[in-house]
Amino acid sequence: MRALTISAHGGLEQLEVRDNLPVPELRAPTDVRVRVRAAALNHLDLFVLRGLPGVTLLPPWVVGSDASGVVDGVGDAVTNVASGDHVVINPGISDRTCVFCREGEHSLCLRYKILGEHLSGTAAEYVVVPAANVRSIPKSMDASLAAAFPLATLTAWRMVNTRARVQAGERVLIWGIGGGVAIAALQICKHIGAEVWVTSNHEAKLQRARELGADHALNTRADDVPASIRHATGKAGVDVVIDNVGKATWSQSLLALGRRGRLVTCGATSGPIVESDVRRLFWNQWTIMGSTMGNDAEFAAIVDELRSGRLLPPVDSVFPLAEGRRAYERLESGLQFGKVVISLE
Ligand SMILES: [Zn+2]
Repeated sequence: MRALTISAHGGLEQLEVRDNLPVPELRAPTDVRVRVRAAALNHLDLFVLRGLPGVTLLPPWVVGSDASGVVDGVGDAVTNVASGDHVVINPGISDRTCVFCREGEHSLCLRYKILGEHLSGTAAEYVVVPAANVRSIPKSMDASLAAAFPLATLTAWRMVNTRARVQAGERVLIWGIGGGVAIAALQICKHIGAEVWVTSNHEAKLQRARELGADHALNTRADDVPASIRHATGKAGVDVVIDNVGKATWSQSLLALGRRGRLVTCGATSGPIVESDVRRLFWNQWTIMGSTMGNDAEFAAIVDELRSGRLLPPVDSVFPLAEGRRAYERLESGLQFGKVVISLE
């Protein structure tokens, strides 16, 4: 089969389309094989390419976490889908046996693995996953749109609904609008009825965010984000900050956060080590929380949103598999608004 692969960590020159990889076989009666129609990239793919501590890749390593496709084979114990069904894939693979899995908290699994990071990825003609990691979608749904959906939306859904528990009328700051998680968080917060601030250093991205319902769009080149928020809220600040930038935004996130505020983070694209003043943390009675991916119930919930059309991810661009390196270039440029997709059709 054909796949986009890397054989060593490094830059984009490591990306190579191979056409002689074996088609993966079912490993368990609960597995399904999916013929991939489209795969989507995440910032995680750049981290995997450059190398992550503790993650060892066996070359040729198939990249990519997100995908949509058609079920091509099912194990004897599979009941939720059948061959021919169109599906989206949840890229978070749990063991389903540990103490957290038994609680239904699959993204806390002690042996949690993500396709493309710890397991062979989705930018390939075929991928084998547990049946619990696929849910069916209408055959008429655009394959690129569906591929763009799972990882970012699942992550944002858990951050906004399960962790921060954003309520109607609350004020939310979302950093870096343009990335998949930030856009999905904006869409989810607006459905809830929150008042949302977004940031970017690209005016075109701020305009797109306004079209998606952002109430306030701040340009980080021109605006002092915490000061603008303090001014607009009569010094109260926001109730919730959604931050996946890390080092570059952390201090400003806390300056923007009001009393009893919640900061939820799922990433650190600008760097992982941050500074916090503990006195402000206790005096303001803040809650700082982490979030990763999502559990089965959250995956089911987001796919219902996708099926009904209530939550549709913006697709920035679609590249054929043969131009996978160009897809990565687009991702690395930071110019995209929404998801960069690799088509396998
Ligand atoms: Zn587990």
